[in-house]
Formats: sequence, structure tokens, C-alpha cells
Amino acid sequence: MPEIRQLSPHVADMIAAGEVVERPASVVKELIENAVDAAATTVTLEIRRGGMSFIRVTDNGCGMSPKDARMAFLRHATSKLRDERGLEAIGTLGFRGEALAAIASVSRIELLTREPDAAEGTRLVLEAGTVAEESPAGCPVGTTIIVRDLFYNTPARLKFMKTDRAETSAVNTAALHCALARPQLSLRYIRDGQEAFHTPGDSNAASAVYTLLGREVSAGMLKAEGETEGVKVSGFVCAPYAARGNRTMQLFFVNGRPVKSLALQAALEQAYKNRLFVGKFPAAVLYIELSPAAVDVNVHPAKTEVRFLREKDVFDAVYYTVMGALERETGGIQVEIGPSTKKVLQGTAAETAPEAGAAGSAPTYTAPAAKTPAPSGGVSGRVSIPAGGFVSAKVGEGAWAKSAGGFVRAAAFKEDGGGIYQTGTAPRASASTVPAADTPKAKEHRPEQTELHSPEPDWRIAGEALSTYIIVEKGDSLILIDKHAAHERIIFDRLVANRQPVMSQSLLVPLILRMQAEDAALILENTGVMAEYGFDVQPVGDGSIALRAVPADVDLIDAEGTLEMIADELRQGSAAPESARDAVLHTVACKAAIKAGRRSEARELEKLAEAVLSGKVRYCPHGRPVSVTLTKYELDKQFKRV
Ligand code: ADP
Ligand code: MG
Repeated sequence: MPEIRQLSPHVADMIAAGEVVERPASVVKELIENAVDAAATTVTLEIRRGGMSFIRVTDNGCGMSPKDARMAFLRHATSKLRDERGLEAIGTLGFRGEALAAIASVSRIELLTREPDAAEGTRLVLEAGTVAEESPAGCPVGTTIIVRDLFYNTPARLKFMKTDRAETSAVNTAALHCALARPQLSLRYIRDGQEAFHTPGDSNAASAVYTLLGREVSAGMLKAEGETEGVKVSGFVCAPYAARGNRTMQLFFVNGRPVKSLALQAALEQAYKNRLFVGKFPAAVLYIELSPAAVDVNVHPAKTEVRFLREKDVFDAVYYTVMGALERETGGIQVEIGPSTKKVLQGTAAETAPEAGAAGSAPTYTAPAAKTPAPSGGVSGRVSIPAGGFVSAKVGEGAWAKSAGGFVRAAAFKEDGGGIYQTGTAPRASASTVPAADTPKAKEHRPEQTELHSPEPDWRIAGEALSTYIIVEKGDSLILIDKHAAHERIIFDRLVANRQPVMSQSLLVPLILRMQAEDAALILENTGVMAEYGFDVQPVGDGSIALRAVPADVDLIDAEGTLEMIADELRQGSAAPESARDAVLHTVACKAAIKAGRRSEARELEKLAEAVLSGKVRYCPHGRPVSVTLTKYELDKQFKRV
């Protein structure tokens, strides 16, 4: 073995450059972050040829003195960290002091910088990390760095660069992340001579999202806001119908830093469970703020990965905030309660007993049945209140109830002789609401015990159209309800909530199904879960399947199609047991739901409309919307009446 020698600083910089400066996009990120650390409020980024030939970043920040300008390009030279104590509470984006040294070692750099009260600025030219020219210069306050011919002296790395187009696209993403991370920064991005975007820098995340992601994406976004255990979460998440085909639009910013984090991704996706199609992913722009001491940003040289000291707290904060945003969207009408009504309500609080239950995968509060006799026959008062959701209820004569921590909607469940409809606001149902004590939100928001009455319907069914949609007139709006989607959601919620063996119909003669080998294997791997939901499937030699029982709600004629659909969902899902359960649940709900294209009876339509208008049903289990509202104003506009 040759003798051991210490690498020259230049070679060490070039090696470090491989970690920090992977491609033009990483240079862009580092330079913009430096500008932000220098307290710049406006930054202009300009690139040519994907940044390979030219990158210029100009800021109006604090600038550098001539001495600092030279120092800035030395390895481990930083103004942001003095000793190891600072490492625990990093408030700046940079701190490792290696970005400029690394970038300079693999490019030609020109720097212009001036401090606010300096008479003149400094100009530095560096070639492969060594200063080639230095002179005083007239320039505005702030800093301009131009990076030319990236990787010109490292041919091996140059070979790894993709086409200009691919590099441009990576720079676009980096610029987008930088701009979204800091709505208070006005970032102008010029690409090959044309302005790509210019954010207002008005500190309003919504306007940044609008400028950067466009009208269509921002229209599908819901505002999210929440705080638990010192973790503040704010931003936007997409409505389920606006979900996307991949995860590129999942953007997380931790203390102003764009980061990748599996924990954050999992928390977000958990909140959407059963709201999206398999293969669809939520879009989100979420800002997470917590004590810098509770995050380790020093996991990766480019600082794009973070580690949380208390991951569970961060997970919960994101999960509950996103849930809250999604539930709020499905929430009912919210009206304040007058003090006199509140007193009356407190006086008549019903006796209650907790009851376990679940709707969907998320923790939910399930309010118990009221002992107060139901005013109209056969109505029981079970109320289920989503965590963090807004729920409202009409109380007595025209009053509405607002609980201590949020609004409470009394959605009474009507038992109707074993039928599939169990939701719907029954006229004057009585119910009392108390959350189960075991969820975190329950501790925070314990609604008062109140007796609630639901309102007389304020809508009417105007008809059925195209054998697919229910037309409802309500106030100044027309609501079109997708029969199948609404029914599918109702059945799905019931299956999830029941958690008890599903009624199944046995076949006198087993049905022998010849399925594709892969489908059959998937089904046979999951016979346990399938049995829970009323399927009896067994292998019979030669890869065929014997079907001996199906859930009562599923039409026998469609038994084969049902198994194929389950196999399909299993194929797309993950290996987790809940994924298999979801596959079966989705399929049974879909197959048991009334079909579009078939006319329905009036009573059937009424029950579906009731469920949808009570606000309980907004999206089918695959994330498609269940109803669409057309306001009179919109219609009048179409007819040029207004
Ligand atoms: P780090 O950001 O980790 O400190 P860098 O190599 O990116 O390391 O930068 C080194 C130093 O150069 C910074 O600490 C800062 O003092 C100075 N610097 C870099 N860019 C700017 C800028 N745009 N304006 C003012 N100072 C800057
Ligand atoms: Mg830096």
C-alpha cells in the first residue's frame, strides 16, 4: 500500500463539492439560501443552459467586507457558527461553511459585493477556487455571485450532467422550493432570458402558492393550520379530488428549510387514508415550525434531510392538522349559540355512556346514544364527531349549538330494518355529544353535554337525471349528487364502523372461478381478511378458486368481477395488512352501491340526498366528489341574467 498522505485543501474541496454541489440546481439552492441568511428581501436568479454555463444570484442583503469576501471561499469559513454549542440551535440556512468553497472549486466565479455603509464594493474573480483578480468596484448594496462553466475542471462529473432541459427542470424545482419556503422573500427567476416567475414577497403563503403553482392547483387546495406540543403546522393541502399521480407536489418546509422526510410524508398520507384512489397522492405545501433544538438538520451535506428529536409529536401535529383541514371541508353549517339557549341546554344535558366506534382509519370521537326518548319513532341518537372537525346542530327552535371547543353537529343515525342506509338527519332526533376520552383532541376540546335537535329539511329533491344524478334544490343552489359515489361512501363508512362480521350469503353450489394465476394468488394470500367481510374462498387444484360465500350486499351475478376488482386493488396496494383490508372494503362498497345508469326509487334517492346534505358524505372512498353545487348566481350568469 502506498503511504498515507493528507489531501490538499483543493482536492478536499473538490470531493466535498461532489456532496454539496451535485448539479446546477444545488448551486442555485445554496446561493439563494446564502442570500436569505444575509437578510435579503429581494433576490434575482438568472440561469442559462440549465445553469451549466451561467448562474447569477443577486441579492439586496448585508453584503461582505473585502476581507470577508475572500474568506467566504475558504473551506469551513462561515459567519454563522462559532462553536459546537451553536450546532444545536441553528437558525440560519447555512452553517457548514463549505458551499462557496465547494462551488468555487469546480467553476469560474465572479463576486460583486458591498456592505450598506461602505463607500465602494469589492469584485473578486476566482478560477477553480483560487483568487485570480481582486479589485474595488462600484456596485449596489448586497451581493451578486456569477457561477460560470460549472464542472469545467472535473470532466468525470460533467459527464453525469443530463441534458440542459433536465438540468433546467431541476433548477425550476429548486427555485420553486426556495420561493415557497419563504413567502416573505420576493424571488424573481429568469430562465434563458425570460422571466419564469416573480413572487410578491408579501409574506402571504397563499399568494406564493398561487403565483408558483398556478390557479388550477391552488383552487384545489384547502387551508391547514394547527399546533400541538410546540409543533406549529400551517399551509395548504389538496382536496381529495385534486390528488395527483405522484409525490412531487408534497412540499415540506421545516423552519423555513425545504426538506424531505418520510415521517412527514407518512403523516400527510395517513390523513388521506381511504379518501384517495390507489396510486393517487395528496399534494401539500406545509410549513412546520418547531424549536430549532428539536430538529437535526445536519444529517445530509445539502441539508435536505432532517431528523426530529420527537418524531411522534411532529407526526401527530401534521396528521391532526391535515385531518382538521379535510374534515372542516366536510363539516356542516356553523352558527353561534346564544347565551340563553346555552343555559337551557346545560340544564337538560342527557345522561351518557361512552361507546367505542370508528369511522375511517383516523381516530374519531363517537358520541353515545342518548337516554332521552326519541321524539319520532325508531330514531336513535348516535353521533359521530370527526377529530378536529366542525360539527353543528340545530337546537330547539332555531338555535344552534356550539360546544366549548368547536361546533357540534347532531347527525342522527336512523336504523332502518337492516337496510344499507344508516345515516341521515332524522327530523328532530335527540342526541347528546361527548367525545371518547382517549384521543388527544378529546382532552383539549370536551364539548358540553347538550340535547340537540336536527333541523327540518330545507331542501327538496327536484328529480333524477341521466339515471345517475340526484337533483336537489336547496336555498339558492342546485346540488347534483352522484348516486353511486354517495352510496359507496355510506356503505364503506358503515363497513369500517361496524368492525363485526359482515352478513354473508352462502352458495348452495360453490362457484368455480378460473382466474389469472397472479389474481388467484393474490386472493388466496388474503383469505383471512376476505372472510372477515363475508367471502369464503378456497383453492381448488389447477389455480382455480371455489367461492362458497359472498357478502350479502354483493350481487352474485357479479361475484367474479368482484374478485377481479379485489385482486386489482391488492396488486396496487402495499403489503401491509390494512392495505388488503382497504382493498376488500373498497370493492364491497363499490359493488354493493347502487349503480349509475339504473333508475332508483324515490325513497332511495331521498335517503342518499339526506346523507349527503347532512354533510357526512362528501367524497367516495376513492376520493371522487359526491356532489357538485351550482348556485343560482352561476346559473343566472350562464343565462346572462346578471
Ligand atoms: P455557510 O452558508 O454554511 O456559512 P457558505 O460557504 O455558503 O457557508 O458561505 C460562507 C460565508 O460567506 C457565509 O457564512 C457568509 O458569511 C458569507 N456569504 C455567503 N453568501 C453571502 C451573501 N449572499 N451575502 C452576504 N454574505 C454571504
Ligand atoms: Mg451557505
